[in-house]
Amino acid sequence: MILMKDIVRDGDPVLRQVAKPLTFPLSDHYKQLAEDMMEYLVNSQDPKIAEKHQLRAGVGLAAPQVGEGVQMAALLVPDDKGEIIFKEVYVNPEIVSESVRQACLSEGEGCLSVDKVINGYVPRPDKLTIHYYTVDGEEKTIRLKDYPAIVSSHEIDHLNGHLFYDRINKKDPFALKEDTVVIS
Ligand SMILES: [Zn+2]
Repeated sequence: MILMKDIVRDGDPVLRQVAKPLTFPLSDHYKQLAEDMMEYLVNSQDPKIAEKHQLRAGVGLAAPQVGEGVQMAALLVPDDKGEIIFKEVYVNPEIVSESVRQACLSEGEGCLSVDKVINGYVPRPDKLTIHYYTVDGEEKTIRLKDYPAIVSSHEIDHLNGHLFYDRINKKDPFALKEDTVVIS
């Protein structure tokens, strides 16, 4: 079971490396990693389990965040009522197209690997088309918008060595392009 002590924090070089693609069929080690990462997200969103194990709630977790420099990320995205609207483990994901229009979360972003609060809007594409493989090696192409697109972008950033605050405007953290969708 992944606990907070297993989460790699900002400053560790693995978070700044480009993760390596995986080959299929996945080894048992990586299949287990996918299960463990999703289990962390499920547990972290359950108030009782999260409190018991002191888990910070997360909607996404990328393999480099547990010290594995490979192209895998788990997503478990709830709506504002806590209903899961998107659940997937991406293997070797690639953004094949993205909208010019941007979106950001009204409250900014956080990250399990970043312990301090960093204020500012994190602009990302509002719509994404992602090509990826499932854990079983099935090839998929999906289109996402708004919150699931933002979480996907955050996680795919991790696989490319980027952290959310890299996208915050340094001079004016709350500056936004005129037509940016602000998601609350
Ligand atoms: Zn993160």
